[in-house]
Amino acid sequence: MGKVLVIGGGPAGLFAAEEAVKKGFDVTLMEKGRIGENIRCAEGFFDVLKLLGKPCAGVRFKVDTIVFEALSLHKFDSRRLNLWMIDRSTWQKELAKRAEQKGVRIIENSPVLPEDMKNLKSKYDFVIDASGAPSVTSKLLGFLNFYRQNSGKTVQYLMEGDFSHLKNSIKVGFLPDFWGYYWIFPKGGDESGRQTANVGIGDFNPDSRSNLRKMLDDVLKKEGIDTANYKIIKVIGGICPTRMLDRLAYDNIMLVGDAAGLTSPLHGGGIDMAVLSGMMCARTLPDGPESYEKALRNLLYGRLNFEEMIARAWRKRTLEQVDKILATAGTLGLHKLLAHPRLMNPLTAKFLEFVF
Ligand SMILES: Cc1cc2nc3c(=O)[nH]c(=O)nc-3n(C[C@H](O)[C@H](O)[C@H](O)COP(=O)(O)OP(=O)(O)OC[C@H]3O[C@@H](n4cnc5c(N)ncnc54)[C@H](O)[C@@H]3O)c2cc1C
Repeated sequence: MGKVLVIGGGPAGLFAAEEAVKKGFDVTLMEKGRIGENIRCAEGFFDVLKLLGKPCAGVRFKVDTIVFEALSLHKFDSRRLNLWMIDRSTWQKELAKRAEQKGVRIIENSPVLPEDMKNLKSKYDFVIDASGAPSVTSKLLGFLNFYRQNSGKTVQYLMEGDFSHLKNSIKVGFLPDFWGYYWIFPKGGDESGRQTANVGIGDFNPDSRSNLRKMLDDVLKKEGIDTANYKIIKVIGGICPTRMLDRLAYDNIMLVGDAAGLTSPLHGGGIDMAVLSGMMCARTLPDGPESYEKALRNLLYGRLNFEEMIARAWRKRTLEQVDKILATAGTLGLHKLLAHPRLMNPLTAKFLEFVF
């Protein structure tokens, strides 16, 4: 069928590579580091559209409750959502193994540089850029700023300590005058019984200059996560690009996952869209790059519009109003709408805006 180069061994790249080899392409994947290392993520796998199902490896637990805190606590039953806490490193290593068994050639510790692209474009029939944000292609073609202007910013600690009070649940908190939220996503215990959690904060206001590190430290105090009983093991951060690029294909280069600007405009989660875009890109390769772009927009249009509308409405509300909305949603059971992906359309979003 031809030769495909995949740049990046994150979820988007690994699924694109496996799907392309299944289609009969000769596939090489180049990863700048080692697969499963240097992951920047809170590791909540939310299969919003219910198209993917349970991850094949690395599942820590299925999330049965989401605890929101605005002025008070609100608990939402999430058992009918496809939402799991995972260990991405384990998952990605398993995906890489699976892809290699199917015939993908994986080359680690091999960064692709923008200046390599001209040569690679002619050596391969297709190049799938899954290098995250900002992508290698953006550095080559000069649209690097697009991501910075259309992204949430985050800071996250990997923490060790007793998070057993959050058993099988995750916590999301809101703060006054802040377009964003903080999260406590526990990962449960590992083989040695050591408990960890990803605790972070994300700011989705492009004009904001907040000191996220300081805000996160204040959140820890508020949550009673003190340094006497909890240890910070790792500090990470990064951007969540919340607007799909206007163009996903440039000659024979196609962008997928974060490189395509695909994290949720509402909450910044992007693992599911990385997987979906990677698979979609590979499946449509025989029909040319334009069909990838068309198919992906068709798949994600309703969901992205829904989430954008909800995000816009949320940002106009004060913390008091958000608290009231959460209370009303809980009483009326409106959160159950999320369990039905077909209801994620502009009509439902308008209805919700009207109710609140
Ligand atoms: C703090 C934080 C928390 C998050 N939490 C969640 C969450 O809980 N749930 C969720 O769904 N999403 C979350 N996200 C978003 C999620 O991490 C991304 O949407 C997802 O990782 C995108 O997958 P990807 O494969 O497109 O890119 P990535 O996972 O970024 O993978 C890109 C890969 O390409 C490699 N690479 C980069 N440059 C090159 C190069 N030049 N040559 C070769 N290889 C290269 C990288 O090493 C990496 O392995 C979070 C993001 C952040 C920053």
